Amino acid sequence: MNTFGPEKLYGIIGHPLGHTMSPLLHNWGFGEFGIPAVYMAWPTEPDKVASFMQTFRNLPISGASVTIPHKLSVMNYIDQLTERAEAVGAVNTLYWRGDKIVGDNTDAAGVSEPLRSCCSQVEKALLIGAGGAARAAIFGLKSLDIKNIYITNRTRSKADDLASEFGISTIDWEDRGDQHFDLIVNSTALGMSGKNEKINPMIMDHQDSKTTVYDLVYNPMETVLIKEARAKGCRVMHGIEMFLHQGMEQFRIWTGKDLDALKARELLLAHL
Ligand code: NAP
Repeated sequence: MNTFGPEKLYGIIGHPLGHTMSPLLHNWGFGEFGIPAVYMAWPTEPDKVASFMQTFRNLPISGASVTIPHKLSVMNYIDQLTERAEAVGAVNTLYWRGDKIVGDNTDAAGVSEPLRSCCSQVEKALLIGAGGAARAAIFGLKSLDIKNIYITNRTRSKADDLASEFGISTIDWEDRGDQHFDLIVNSTALGMSGKNEKINPMIMDHQDSKTTVYDLVYNPMETVLIKEARAKGCRVMHGIEMFLHQGMEQFRIWTGKDLDALKARELLLAHL
C-alpha cells in the first residue's frame, strides 16, 4: 500500500497501449487540483499480468486503470470486487481499501452518465453488439431504469447469453432495423477506423428526431452511424463520452474530486 513519498503513483495497464488518452486526462486532473500525483502508461503483455499485480502490491502504486486484454485476468489477483464489477464481470479500475486491492468497473458509468440527463423519457433501447463493452453497456442502461432493453448481435448465441444473464430481450440481427427505438447504443467494432469504417451497424429507416444514438466507437468521432443518425434528425452522442465519463469516475474514486466535464472534454477533443 502506498504510504511513502509525497507523489502518488497511478497508471494504466493494457496491451497494446499506444493510443491511450488516460495519462492525458488524469495528469491534467491532478494538475487542476494541485494533487501531487503522476499517472503513467505501463504496456503489459498478457503473460506479465501476474508480475504486474505483484508489483502493484509491493510498490507504492495507489491505483491503476486496466484495459484490453486484462480486464478479466486481473480479477485473479485482487482481494475484493465491487458489486458493479462483479455484475459487469470485468475490472477496469484498481484501488486500495486499507490493505486490500479492490477491483471496480467504471465502464458502465461511461455509458449511463452521459445519457442520464437527456434520456429520462427512454422506454425502449437497442444495444448493438455482445462483446466486452456490451456487458458494461447493459449494466449502465439498466441503472437508468429503462423498461425495455433489447440486444442484437451478428452472432445470435452471444446476444442470447447476455439477454438471459441480464434479463433483457434479443432481437434478430436481420430484424434490428424493423422498428423505432428511443435509444440506440452501438457497442460493435463497426464504424471503427480500419476495415470496418464504412459499415453502419444499424439500419436507420425507422429512426427519427425522437431517437438518441450513442456510438461507443470514438475513432473516428464522426462514425458512419453518427452521420446517418444526424441526417435522420436523431440526437447523437459520441464515443468520447464513454471514455470521458469512465475516466471521471476513476478520478473520483482515487481522489474524491470531480473533474470539470466541459474542460476535460475540450482537452480530449483537442488531442483527438
Ligand atoms: P469485442 O468484445 O471484441 O466485441 C466486438 C463486437 O463487435 C461483437 O459484438 C462482434 O460481433 C461485433 N462485430 C465485430 N465485427 C463485426 C462485423 N463485421 N459485423 C457485425 N458485428 C461485428 O469488443 P469490445 O471490447 O466489446 O469493443 C467493441 C467496440 O466498443 C470497440 O470497437 C470500441 O470502439 C468500442 N469501445 C469504446 C469505448 C469508449 O471508451 N468509448 C470503450 C470500450 C469499447 P460477434 O459477436 O458476432 O463477433
